[in-house]
Amino acid sequence: MPTARPPLLLTPGPLTTSDRTRAAMGRDWGSRDRDFIALSEGVRTRLAQLAGAAATHVTVPVQGSGTFAVEAAVQSLVPPDGKLLVLVNGAYGRRIAAIARRLGRAFAILETGENCAIAADAVARALAADDALTDVALVHCETTTGLLNPLPEIAARVAEAGRRLLVDAMSSFGAVPIDISRTPCTALIASANKALEGVPGLAFVIAETAHLRRCQGNAVSLSLDLHDQWRGFEQNGQWRFTPPVQVVAALSAALDQLDAEGGVAARHARYRHNCDTLINGMEACGFTPYIDRALQAPVIVTFRIPPGGWFDFDQFYAFLGARGIVVYPGKLTAEPSFRIGCIGAIGAAEIRRALDAVGAFVAAHRRQRAS
Ligand SMILES: *Cc1c(COP(=O)(O)O)cnc(C)c1O
Repeated sequence: MPTARPPLLLTPGPLTTSDRTRAAMGRDWGSRDRDFIALSEGVRTRLAQLAGAAATHVTVPVQGSGTFAVEAAVQSLVPPDGKLLVLVNGAYGRRIAAIARRLGRAFAILETGENCAIAADAVARALAADDALTDVALVHCETTTGLLNPLPEIAARVAEAGRRLLVDAMSSFGAVPIDISRTPCTALIASANKALEGVPGLAFVIAETAHLRRCQGNAVSLSLDLHDQWRGFEQNGQWRFTPPVQVVAALSAALDQLDAEGGVAARHARYRHNCDTLINGMEACGFTPYIDRALQAPVIVTFRIPPGGWFDFDQFYAFLGARGIVVYPGKLTAEPSFRIGCIGAIGAAEIRRALDAVGAFVAAHRRQRAS
């Protein structure tokens, strides 16, 4: 039985989507049909344009969640005799290192604290110190904390050092402007179900065509071979293996809505307002964000568990859940925390609805404890 009202997902993705995006999934598509080929082609072109990369890069979609595309990018774009420098300040950076280890690629890690941005100078020093390094992997918005790493500065230093840069922009693409024509990177990796406000099941790599052309035979997996996936599209516009047809249709509708909203700059402004509303409201309820406001991407905010022993996350989660609001547990290694997202087809009114529920929880539980 359908529930009265869909949940408000204050999560990094899957997240709250619009009725129009969900409605776009209400039909069947033949995967080798001309209409679907045109739909896929349109989505691929628009994603590259969104990244300012249409002249130099090509979008290679990958079936699956975002991690599938990260795994495809590492094995396809880092040559077997290459060495990857993984920049780590959270769980998603650590995941890239875990992928490189599984693939048997040589790699090194440059790590900073989870509340610190990666410093471009430190990247330049690490590259100068090891000639074997061929590629660098950066997580743009580290969704573990919501911290935005300085992509333009790091990209400039990596390019100066003559290395390639792979960017996991999973939670930032669509939320934060990225212009590859001015920010050199070999590959930008993202998925449909975060700031693009599509549904889950599709990820993609926007890869530099000149490099991709040299990547035949790099991948150790058949289905995650970006080079072969790209060649497939070049030959006949078709996916090599069953595409998530409804997900592609939903993403196409979501991109229409991104255009109608005014593009990434307008979406960034909406998310920034959501984020400011969230942080101000949570601070008024007595919660403290984990990272410095200057480092905060308007994507997801990590809050410290308040001191005093009265706050129980499972209770908090259930209390909000009963009111149709879904938040996220923390992922920090350093201390207990929880997270609230501010992306999706939502505005400040939805954030305020969540804040009202948070306020009600605090009033009930802090008082209960004090009495
Ligand atoms: C969401 C996310 C991923 C991929 O996660 P999936 O669960 O595989 O979709 C990778 N990196 C970052 C930074 C993310 O936010």
